[in-house]
Amino acid sequence: MQQVTILGATGSIGISTLDVLARHPERYRVYALTAHSKVDELAAQCVQFRPARAVVGSAEAAARLSAMLRERDLRCDVSYGEAALCEVAAEADTVMAAIVGAAGLAPTLAAARAGRKILLANKEALVLSGQLFMDLVERHGAVLLPIDSEHNAIFQSLPMSYQRAPAASGVAKVVLTASGGPFLKRAVDTLETVTPDEACKHPNWSMGRKISVDSATMMNKGLEVIEAHWLFGATADQIEVVIHPQSVIHSMVSYVDGSVLAQLGNPDMRTPIAHALAYPERIDSGVAQLDLTSMAALQFEKPDFQRFPCLALAFDALRAGGTAPSLLNAANEVAVEAFLARRIGFRDIDRVVGRVMEENDHGAASSIEAVLAQDALARAAATNIVGSLAR
Ligand code: NDP
Ligand code: MG
Repeated sequence: MQQVTILGATGSIGISTLDVLARHPERYRVYALTAHSKVDELAAQCVQFRPARAVVGSAEAAARLSAMLRERDLRCDVSYGEAALCEVAAEADTVMAAIVGAAGLAPTLAAARAGRKILLANKEALVLSGQLFMDLVERHGAVLLPIDSEHNAIFQSLPMSYQRAPAASGVAKVVLTASGGPFLKRAVDTLETVTPDEACKHPNWSMGRKISVDSATMMNKGLEVIEAHWLFGATADQIEVVIHPQSVIHSMVSYVDGSVLAQLGNPDMRTPIAHALAYPERIDSGVAQLDLTSMAALQFEKPDFQRFPCLALAFDALRAGGTAPSLLNAANEVAVEAFLARRIGFRDIDRVVGRVMEENDHGAASSIEAVLAQDALARAAATNIVGSLAR
């Protein structure tokens, strides 16, 4: 019986994870569930899955949750804040890291330090801390499995013996597919005025609002390029992005002999979640089998960096190295939040990120403290720029 903690249980990935766990009560037990402010949703999950611990974002939310669970006669230790998140991440066998943004960094690192099996959805944590995160995983014997559909697909398409060195395994390139999001074909000069709801209307995937906006700017793919660099040891030149609007091929690996291995499936995150939970076994995820004959055409095209400047900024950050990805990620989080709050326009997102990258020097990513200092600096700089652009 595996004890599972879900960090970010009330989010899109958290809910899909619980759906898969509920199909296999004989294999998995929910140890802890966490949320930030959605107390009602978390209470309902606690009633259904009976975790030993639940963690929320504030004392007030914890008091509300405790009262709701007491009313239901449910025994569950309720706590709040980052230290509690780190505890529940370190205490379970398996941790689904599905908090959105840099807020997920500390508990994900705590799971690594405790040598746990980490199912990583929270790509921002890896982008922010890169080598430091990977070193912790190795030093403490943690197991890191990618949940992001592209990286999960690449993982499935690499040899089992793969050691984070493409050339040594005959890998020429890892190829990340991207749907292109809701604005792939929209006239570029109309992008200034798109609304948060339009940006969040993803053609193929149903996801949280932050990653949905990232998909519309293609910053999501940029973050994934950096994620692929750390997970698979691929250089910027060994990572290719291809637009594939149908999201059926979730990514590919090109080998030096001309072979290309790909993973295909319906676009539903329960597939990579089930894959990582059971790895190296396979379990039912609830996802319907792919019906190849019902598909029209599978299309592919090169990304347009003029339309999607965030993708270019992310490649720049990866090539620059050090804490440049921390700058990129923090500026993007601030800009996306401001866009979702309707304070800045859609195209302002790449302006904010571009200016933060241009106007601030990055340093060496020598420690978690250095990375967090760069993150704080970039947030302050981005907040200033947002203020000057705000409508
Ligand atoms: P959601 O916004 O749907 O969920 C986010 C979760 O994190 C919620 O449980 C939320 O709690 C919690 N949370 C938010 N802010 C904080 C905070 N400051 N401290 C602690 N917890 C917090 O996001 P998604 O599920 O879409 O995405 C989660 C992660 O997975 C992201 O990093 C995303 O990039 C990645 N991912 C998501 C995919 C998807 O299909 N959704 C695909 C691939 C990767 P509350 O509900 O209470 O606010
Ligand atoms: Mg993805």
